[in-house]
Amino acid sequence: MDFAAVDDFLLAHLGGDDDVLAAALARADAAGLPAINVSAPQGKFLYLLARLVGAHRILEIGTLAGYSTLWLARGLADGGHLDTIEIDAGHADVATANFAAAGLADRITLHRGAALDVLSDLAGPYDLVFIDADKQNNAVYFDHAVRLGRPGTLIIVDNVVRGGDILAPLDEKALGTVALFAALKVDPRVEATALQLAGAKGWDGIIVARVR
Ligand code: SAH
Ligand code: MG
Repeated sequence: MDFAAVDDFLLAHLGGDDDVLAAALARADAAGLPAINVSAPQGKFLYLLARLVGAHRILEIGTLAGYSTLWLARGLADGGHLDTIEIDAGHADVATANFAAAGLADRITLHRGAALDVLSDLAGPYDLVFIDADKQNNAVYFDHAVRLGRPGTLIIVDNVVRGGDILAPLDEKALGTVALFAALKVDPRVEATALQLAGAKGWDGIIVARVR
């Protein structure tokens, strides 16, 4: 028994990827993209969060092949829109194809470029922000998320446990994540918690924050 087998059990009972989402992952794999997307239960969790907050505007930082994007976009309220940011042109091309194949291209704007550049040009307020790009800039991305939010905006940050590496951060991704935790410790603008997650993608976690 392992985390992946339990994920299979959960998905078999509660539902996960349909044909469109499976095809999105297959297109990513065929293009040689790394399989660092959220897992299916995590994707459905993002979808449910979007539904629960009634999200009309969602911002995602870090698109990859658009797997998490598709889950989030499916959770948009009627007439809602999602902005997602991706620096890698090859990743963005695959994501663009996935959005079209899913019939969701009209609900998603893919911004090509470095998040730090794109974020300065965006205007809020967003109802939900999902931060899942390079981890070195997490604290800056979080700052933008708050700026682009409003009271009640939900901010999710992915990969904040890193197999426990945050306790003894050595690489710049773990260091960037710890820098975000240090910033949150003294940030009066949000109330936040973090959850450890285990599953097919191993041991990691998310920050869940609400703008005051
Ligand atoms: N959210 C996706 C996974 C994203 S992986 C999912 O769960 O399906 C992280 C992505 O962030 C990669 O595609 C990487 O190219 C992108 N990225 C890395 N640095 C970036 C930056 N500075 N600006 C924008 N995107 C960046
Ligand atoms: Mg991630």
